[in-house]
Amino acid sequence: LMRALNSLFDSNVSLFTNNFFQIGTFLALVLLMLVNGTGFLLVIYDRSYELLRASSNLDPLTRIYNRRFFMNKAESHYQRALKDQSSLTFLFLDIDFFKKVNDTYGHLFGDEVLKVVAKVLSENIRPVDLCCRYGGEEFLIYLHETNKEEAISVANRIREKIQNLVFADNQEYKCTISVGIYSAQPDSTKNLQFFIDNADQALYMAKEAGRNCVVSL
Ligand code: GH3
Ligand code: MG
Ligand code: MG
Repeated sequence: LMRALNSLFDSNVSLFTNNFFQIGTFLALVLLMLVNGTGFLLVIYDRSYELLRASSNLDPLTRIYNRRFFMNKAESHYQRALKDQSSLTFLFLDIDFFKKVNDTYGHLFGDEVLKVVAKVLSENIRPVDLCCRYGGEEFLIYLHETNKEEAISVANRIREKIQNLVFADNQEYKCTISVGIYSAQPDSTKNLQFFIDNADQALYMAKEAGRNCVVSL
């Protein structure tokens, strides 16, 4: 613009005249373009890095946290509970007879069930809680500052919601889950894995008790 104005008001100068002012403004323009381009690339890089980082914490199928991310977060909650001498509560959930779902209705429908169950879980916990797909058709939930009685009622609420689901693609299928709960105060004899193992043990007992139920240790 400055080059154009200069050539407009000075009859000895055209847009392409090589004088100090015209060359200076041209160089400034090139510099500005370089800075703009680099800035734009940096913004794009920053956004894609952020997207990649966020999705590396998620399970690709259900879009809830994966086990690795959950365990990292759970470890910091464990350390805090250990320091504060407060209790720590985990729920281990497993879809009942899921192998039969795949065998009867196919893997695609099985995937759909996993997605819907994960959605129900994440919609029925608070932002301070955590939930992840632990593996296959197993999910793990951390309930923040929640005692055993409260955890049992949360687990039963989720269990009933899942039991009442109606799947658009298959209205005859009734999905049920079994839930194991372990709630205790951490100490030097109880590390994080001890909590997970005990919740898993409670889940095993729920399966033994006939499934579609909640057992707490
Ligand atoms: P139980 O009531 O004792 O839990 O029986 P179950 O059939 O649910 O348990 P089992 O461990 O025998 O079967 C788990 C099944 O989950 C087997 C596997 O094919 C299926 N599964 C694991 N991951 C996926 C997945 O990502 N998609 C689908 N569709 N199925 C999966
Ligand atoms: Mg199962
Ligand atoms: Mg299982």
